Amino acid sequence: MSELRAPKGTFDTLPPTSATFLAVRDALVRPLRLAGYGYLETPVFEETAVFSRGVGESTDVVTKEMYTFDDRGGRSLTLRPEFTAGVMRAFIEHRLFDAGLPVKLWSVGSAFRYERPQAGRYRHFTQVSMEALGVDDPALDAEVVALGVQGFRDLGLTDFELLLTSLGDATCRPQYREKLVQFLEKLDLDEETRRRAEINPLRVLDDKRPEVQAQLDDAPLMVDHLSDETRAHYDAVRQHLTDLGVTWTEAPRLVRGLDYYTKTTFEFVHHGLGAQSAIGGGGRYDGLSAALGGPDLSGIGYAVGVDRTLLAVQAEGLDIGVQAGVQAFVVPLGAEAKRVAVRLVGQLRQAGVAADTVYGDRGLKGAMKAADRSGASHVVVIGDRDLAEGVGQLKDMRTGEQHAVPVGELFETVRATVGT
Ligand code: AMP
Repeated sequence: MSELRAPKGTFDTLPPTSATFLAVRDALVRPLRLAGYGYLETPVFEETAVFSRGVGESTDVVTKEMYTFDDRGGRSLTLRPEFTAGVMRAFIEHRLFDAGLPVKLWSVGSAFRYERPQAGRYRHFTQVSMEALGVDDPALDAEVVALGVQGFRDLGLTDFELLLTSLGDATCRPQYREKLVQFLEKLDLDEETRRRAEINPLRVLDDKRPEVQAQLDDAPLMVDHLSDETRAHYDAVRQHLTDLGVTWTEAPRLVRGLDYYTKTTFEFVHHGLGAQSAIGGGGRYDGLSAALGGPDLSGIGYAVGVDRTLLAVQAEGLDIGVQAGVQAFVVPLGAEAKRVAVRLVGQLRQAGVAADTVYGDRGLKGAMKAADRSGASHVVVIGDRDLAEGVGQLKDMRTGEQHAVPVGELFETVRATVGT
């Protein structure tokens, strides 16, 4: 056996779990398609500056977790730790804002962070990410949040919670920031935390360490210091969410990984996942386009972790109706039967029926084992003796019932019955 292993913090998703993974991914994407979002594919790596400027210099993601390397041409590149910064780079580069606003986009794929691996936290993971760019309308915030909720609901998840707050904007955050800085100055914090607090004091509220949290009970909160305008914005978002049938929990200490978040900010947590409970999160980031050298346009979006959502589906014991493997399996016994089987499987596949057969000389026992493993609801056994009589045996694996079907009718019969 080879010593080679998947790198630390990464894993392979194997059949049959991989079929559930794909179903989860597709379920998370479906509400976005239905709401008119367009698919955007960006490179898995970007110039490092896209993330250092786009995610924020004070974040853990940028300071500790990026996979950054020089390519052979001496360019500093980084594997994407998240999607938003790269999407914004593409939005600006291709002047997508010229085509009418909002620009609604979704992406799906791998993200990479050099994190300490644990259950639900990996160095390579998959996100479904979406953005609605260029319009600051509370109804759009509510749409975005509701689409995230819809994906989880469509999967049948119930044990999740939407945490919601507003982080204010340029008209009220500086004054609040000042108050928070004054408060933090009096606390007993280590050097590194102080340094982070200087760049973005809000991030200290998000510090998970108990010795830090214990000192934050009386910390001033952004929601208590919103300007009239941002308060009205937040009220409108909540009104629209209520109209959309979405419920939430107010989370005034919620801070997100990006430094540029403004106004509406949210996270989805699942209660069956232990420490890594966040299955998704997002918010409005009205400063990001300008920070990346683009026009001063607003944006809002979220990212959902497919791997963690899969864990949530498993934690709730949900059967999401995945068709793993094939619908029909054909077992030929003998050379003549083999030709019939190969032809039949070819016909079924062309007609859109998932079908497979055995390869190599497996004998009846081995072949039936393969049929069992295939997950097929219907198995056709074609023996040379059957063939001499012009029939094959069609077996319903769920009931064990079996009957002879004329070879010329096998294709139509199987096609008609697997759908039932
Ligand atoms: P974030 O951009 O950190 O808010 O991430 C958005 C979502 O991606 C999270 O809510 C998780 O579901 C997922 N996610 C983030 N980091 C990881 C990771 N290291 N491993 C697995 N999933 C992750």
